[in-house]
Amino acid sequence: MADPARIEDAADKVLGEVKRGNQVAVVVSAMAGVTNQLVDYCQQIDAGCDPSEYDAVVASGEQVTTGLMALALHKRGLASRSFMGWQVPMICDDKHGRARINDIPPDNLDQCLNENFVPVVAGFQGITKTGRITTLGRGGSDTTAVALAAALKADRCDIYTDVDGVYTTDPRMVPQARKLDKVTYEEMLEMAALGAKVLHPRSVELAMAWDVPLQVLSTFEPSVGSDLPGTMIVKEDDIVEKQIVNGVTYTRNEAKITVLSVPDMPGIAASIFAPIAEAGINVDVIVQNVSPDGKTTDMTFTVPKIDAERTRTLLQSLDILKGCEIRVATDIAKVSVVGIGMSSHTGVARTMFTILANNKINILAITTSEIKVSVLVEEKYTELAVRELHRAFGLDQEKP
Ligand code: ASP
Ligand code: MG
Repeated sequence: MADPARIEDAADKVLGEVKRGNQVAVVVSAMAGVTNQLVDYCQQIDAGCDPSEYDAVVASGEQVTTGLMALALHKRGLASRSFMGWQVPMICDDKHGRARINDIPPDNLDQCLNENFVPVVAGFQGITKTGRITTLGRGGSDTTAVALAAALKADRCDIYTDVDGVYTTDPRMVPQARKLDKVTYEEMLEMAALGAKVLHPRSVELAMAWDVPLQVLSTFEPSVGSDLPGTMIVKEDDIVEKQIVNGVTYTRNEAKITVLSVPDMPGIAASIFAPIAEAGINVDVIVQNVSPDGKTTDMTFTVPKIDAERTRTLLQSLDILKGCEIRVATDIAKVSVVGIGMSSHTGVARTMFTILANNKINILAITTSEIKVSVLVEEKYTELAVRELHRAFGLDQEKP
């Protein structure tokens, strides 16, 4: 939704779908840069501003684009009207700035669709039970779209973005990256959480929970969603040939926190991580060393970079950690390989570690799940690690 011209391009896609006989509901995000500007305005007045007023401000970007999109659809001869979150209503909890959608009574939108109007719904926003405006967290329009698709029992949810699908890795970093025709929800969830910026992770979570067939495709291509030019995100059963590794992702958004010489006794992990969880800080990789003397140990974990200093302050305030040294490193990256076939194949971790060793990249910490292996490495090795793993796992595009 960069500017009015792009809104008109998107309106052409809606028209294309309507001409194919489809009923369409549209969700829009704000125009490029607008949300950042609105966040900045809030911070200029008060860096720690009241989250409910922050939401009132940042939700306004989508009010503009819903109206503009409805106008662009009128111009194309389609009946259409705009809906703010509260008009739908998208009923959310009161966790301002990162609200979750609790309920979408479909009646208003159903009525709109039945009267052959195209509803244009503001992404990213909702309303609390007490009538306050909320937002879903940055990038949350994807989540609005999936939630709406589930509520309306849509046949498909198409997400138009600035990339034309999901790639085996970041094509700006590795030109040999390939577009995937299909990935599973599980893989996409891992990839989104691990740094692939294509989709808001919660949108994938919702799509998986509600079985919403989801397609990622480009705003910049003329084709429309019904021609299936993007990447389909589907159930595992819908994929015949399961790749052992389907993607390599990276993120530089994490910080590594190490607490040295914590007392080695029952309850210590709980007393460190409970307050962090209560502060709403997401912990990812956790490593606890063996205790050489049986008395103390070191604990290493990662948190989002933006929460690093908050985490440090929090840990410093804990009685149980009095006198413990706390180290915070922000020059790290997490590199991951993801693939649904991993759950039934061995040796992925070994291959990954060998490749990194051959390239003299030191691993700082490791974490795995059924379908992914992640390592922390020094940030300066990110590109090398991603490129080499992409090649080693056979993901490079064949030269024409
Ligand atoms: N406009 C919001 C943001 O920039 C939501 C979105 O774009 O998905 O985070
Ligand atoms: Mg977005």
